[in-house]
Amino acid sequence: MRVGRALGLGVWAALLVLTAISCVTPPKAAAPPMPVVASPTLEAPPAIATGSRAGLWVTLEPPDLWALVTTAEKQYPPVEFDHPYPGKVVLIEGASQEALHVLCPLPGAILGCAVPKRDGVSTIAIADEKTIRTWGWTRGLILRHEIAHLNGWPPNHLGAR
Ligand SMILES: [Zn+2]
Repeated sequence: MRVGRALGLGVWAALLVLTAISCVTPPKAAAPPMPVVASPTLEAPPAIATGSRAGLWVTLEPPDLWALVTTAEKQYPPVEFDHPYPGKVVLIEGASQEALHVLCPLPGAILGCAVPKRDGVSTIAIADEKTIRTWGWTRGLILRHEIAHLNGWPPNHLGAR
């Protein structure tokens, strides 16, 4: 039990020292979250493929495309980074803000976070659906954003569209 806990803490400590961390964060202004405009279908999250063989990817569905055109903050990756990530990824869904801040030590709300490969495995963590929707994003958009970071899209979001 102690060994397991120590190993767990070691992993988090290793993650803390990472320098190449990229996250989706809402605008830094103290403005309240954007109102969410209802889209035609919000019930089913888009299907996602996890694992290393086919790569991590998610297909954008109508609710994702709706959010893409209605969000004020344009943080969608450029085409050269918008493709499946071929490596192994640990995907953490529904992460709390506390967990996201441990993984990506940035100020403010964090919707998603990508930690490039460590020991052959990269990590993506995304916030819970309610938090993501509060900011006008979708799970699919967050994943495409974070996957692009694993594909080499720089943290400054150069070329975001
Ligand atoms: Zn980002």
